[in-house]
Amino acid sequence: MNPSDTLSAPLLASGGRMLIGAEWREAVSGKRFPTINPATTEPLAEIAEGDAPDVDLAVQAARQAFEGPWGKMSAAERGKALWRLGDLILKHVDEIARLESLDAGKPIAETTRIDVPLTADVFHYYAGAATKLEGSTIPVSGPYFNYTLREPIGVVGLIVPWNFPLLIASRKVAPALAAGNTVVLKPAEESPLTALRLGELALEAGLPPGVINVVPGFGPTAGAALVAHPGVAGIAFTGETSTGQLIMQNGARTLKKVSLELGGKSANIVLDDADLEAASRAAMMAIFYNKGEVCTAGSRLLVAKGAREPLLEKVIERAAKLVQGDTLDPKTRLGPQISQAQVERIERYVAAGKKEGARLVLGGERAKVGDGRGYFWKPTIFDGVRNDMTIAREEIFGPVLSVIEVESFDDAIARANESMYGLAAAIWTSDVKKAHRAARALQAGTVWINTYNLYDAASPYGGTKASGFGRETGMAGLDFYTQTKSVWVDLG
Ligand code: ADP
Repeated sequence: MNPSDTLSAPLLASGGRMLIGAEWREAVSGKRFPTINPATTEPLAEIAEGDAPDVDLAVQAARQAFEGPWGKMSAAERGKALWRLGDLILKHVDEIARLESLDAGKPIAETTRIDVPLTADVFHYYAGAATKLEGSTIPVSGPYFNYTLREPIGVVGLIVPWNFPLLIASRKVAPALAAGNTVVLKPAEESPLTALRLGELALEAGLPPGVINVVPGFGPTAGAALVAHPGVAGIAFTGETSTGQLIMQNGARTLKKVSLELGGKSANIVLDDADLEAASRAAMMAIFYNKGEVCTAGSRLLVAKGAREPLLEKVIERAAKLVQGDTLDPKTRLGPQISQAQVERIERYVAAGKKEGARLVLGGERAKVGDGRGYFWKPTIFDGVRNDMTIAREEIFGPVLSVIEVESFDDAIARANESMYGLAAAIWTSDVKKAHRAARALQAGTVWINTYNLYDAASPYGGTKASGFGRETGMAGLDFYTQTKSVWVDLG
C-alpha cells in the first residue's frame, strides 16, 4: 500500500514524496514521517523522510540543472519562468492557504490574505530582478579595461522553519533562481506540505527539472547533510540562533557561504506623546500575530511611564477578544502553537516570569479549544517586567508579551538595545525628531515608526547581532546568491 493511501484524501498530487530533478521519489531509506495538524494533533499526511543519500541525489540534480538548462537560459527567460510560478501561486491561493493553515496552525484568514499572496509577490518581484543584476566598469590605472560580472554561486541549500513555511522559502528560492542558481529546499519537519506543493507548481510553471529540489526531513539528518555537502556553495537559513551557530560551525568544514535569519526579542517603544489607540492595536498584533511565532514579534513593549496604564488597559482589552479556534474558520485570529515542544517551552517561560516577579495580567495557560488536544495557548501578558528577567531576554516564540516601563526617550533606546538580538524595533511618537533619532539609534535590521510588522518583497529584511546577517527581499536579497568576478582586458 502506498503510505499516502492512509490519508482520507491525499493533500498533494505528488503523494508526499520528495522532488528530485523531475521525479517524485520515496526516500532512499524508504522511511516516511507524519506531519500533523497542530489544532487537533491528528496526522495530516505521511511524508518521505530525506537523509544524506537523498540530499546527495538532490544536489546532483541541482548541479545538472545549473550547468544545463537553467545556466544556459537568459536572465529574461528565467524571469519569465519565475513570473509564471508567481501567477500559479496566485491561481491556487485558496488551496495553498488551506494546506499551510492545516500544517502550520495558521488561521485561514492570514494564510489567504498574507502568506500566499506575499509569496506570489516575492516571485513576481524577483522575476523582474533577474534582468537587473548588473556588473560595473571600473576606472583602473593603466591601459586596461576592467569590468565585473555578477555570477550565481551554484547549488544553494535552503533550510526553512515552520512559522511561515512557504513565505520564508520563497524569500530564498526566488532570489536564488533569479540570480541563476539552483536550489535544494529543506522544509521544516513540522510543516513540509507547502514546500512540496511549490515543487509541483514549479514543474507546472515550466522550470527545468532540478532547478528546485525539495527534500523534507529532520534538521540533524537531512538539514545537516545539506550543510555538510561539498557540492553546496551556500546555505540560506532561517531559524533559531543556536541552530544558526551550529550551521555556521558545520558549514566551515566545506567553507560554506551562509546567510542567517535568526531569532529576535524586538522592542516596541511607546512614548507618552504617541497615538495610544493606534499603538495599542499594533502592540497587540505585534506579539499575537501568528500566535507569537514570528521572528520580529514585538515581545518587549517598552512604555513611557505616563502611557503605561492607559496603553496596557487597551492592549489587554483587545487581546482578550482574540478568537482562538479551528484554523480553517475565517473568524479565527489565533491558531495553535506548532507543537507540544513549543507549548512546553512557553510553559517554562511563563513559570520563569512568575518566579522572577513579573505580574501576570492576562492568560498564562493553555487554552481549551474543541476537544482540548490542540496546542492552543491563551494570549499572555506580563506587566512589571524588567529587562534583566528571563522573559525579557530570551526569545519565547509564543504569544507572551513583556511590558517594561521606561523613564525617558534615552532610557527607552538604551533598554531596547540592551539585548543580544537585533532583528526589528518600533517607536510610537508624534515627535518626528525623536522618531528619526530612534531609527538611527536602534540596533536592529528593521525599524518601524508608528507602525509594526510591515514587509514588502521590495524592502530588505534581516538582522544584526545574534539575529544574524545577510538580507532577504529587495535588491539586497540578491547579494548572497551572487559573486562578483573581475575581468581585465589589455588595451595597450
Ligand atoms: P525549531 O527548533 O524551532 O524547529 P530550528 O532552528 O531548529 O527551529 O529549525 C529550523 C530549520 O532548521 C528546520 O528546517 C530544521 O529541520 C533545521 N535544522 C535543525 N537543526 C539543524 C541542523 N543541525 N542542521 C541543519 N538544519 C537544521
